[in-house]
Formats: sequence, C-alpha cells, structure tokens
Amino acid sequence: MSHRSVARAENRSAVTNQVFLALGSNLNDPVAQIKQAVQSLSHTLRTVKCAHLYQSKPLGPQDQPDFVNTVISGYTDLSPNDLLDTIQKIEIKQQRVKTRHWGPRTIDIDILFYGDMRMETAELTIPHKELFNRAFVTIPLLDLIPNGITPTGDQIDRNRYDSSTLVRIDT
Ligand code: AMP
Repeated sequence: MSHRSVARAENRSAVTNQVFLALGSNLNDPVAQIKQAVQSLSHTLRTVKCAHLYQSKPLGPQDQPDFVNTVISGYTDLSPNDLLDTIQKIEIKQQRVKTRHWGPRTIDIDILFYGDMRMETAELTIPHKELFNRAFVTIPLLDLIPNGITPTGDQIDRNRYDSSTLVRIDT
C-alpha cells in the first residue's frame, strides 16, 4: 500500500458516503443551537438537507425543558471516527454541558447512518442503537426518506410511532 493510500485508509473512506445525523437540544435557545450546529456541519458535509424541526418531550427526567429535534443528511469522505471527532468538536464549541444521563443539553449530535455500513466498536454503533425506538428521530428522518427505506435497507413503519408526541416547529 502506498503512503498516500495508507493516509487515506486512516483518515478517509475510499468513497464519499451519505450520512444521516440526529440533532437535539433543550437548553439556551434550542432552535438557535440546532441552526448553529447545522451551519457548522455544513462546513464538513456536502449537499446538506435538513428535516423539519420538532418539539418533543424529554426522555427520562421530566423536570427539564422540551427538546427540539431534527435530522440532517449530507455527504462526506471522512471516516466514521473522524466524523465523530468533528461532531464532538461542534458539541464542545456549543458548550455542551451534560449533567446527567438523559438530562438537559445544549446540543447532542448522533450518527444515525453512514452509507449502508453496519459497525459496532467501543466508540460507535452504526446504525445508531436507539434510532428505531425514538419517534423524535424516525419522524424527522421520514421527512428526508419519505418511502421509509433506510440506507441499510430496513423499513421504517410510520404507523409504529406516535407522531402526536411531536410538534412541528415552523422556522
Ligand atoms: P451521548 O452523549 O449519549 O450521545 O453519547 C455519546 C457517545 O456515544 C460518544 O462518545 C460515542 O462514542 C458514542 N456513540 C456510539 N454510537 C454512536 C453514534 N452512532 N453516534 C454518536 N455517538 C455514538
């Protein structure tokens, strides 16, 4: 393997992949937090598409503000781990403060899909483990893939999710 291709193997995948990311915020003007994160991510991803924004009730502790959630898609040649690093830098930049599990946060960004890849490592599980259990992820995801067929070939059944738990926000 040449030097160049070693570097590529370490930092980048050989091809550009379409990725889907879930974003959520419930602190410090959540809509602005989401917009700022989308803006930052648009420096990393090409051809970014953003689902509608939705207000949702928190999971777990209810003594915290409602969340604003959305899903975006875009294209990248970063490897999954480099994409995770980029995401974590954006979370830090937006002063993500995480006080407790399922507690309030300025911004949370999860990788839902990375092309049609399935992977499970100490750092990353893709597709995201909880994605099919969360209406606040699947409902915005369906804005971007209306036929409900995910990049890994699974079918999202819209009827399985109680969309009345979400309020669409017009921004
Ligand atoms: P949380 O703050 O609860 O979203 O968890 C963040 C941690 O989850 C990160 O440090 C990642 O190592 C890990 N993780 C595992 N799978 C994923 C994924 N698909 N997207 C983002 N983070 C993930």
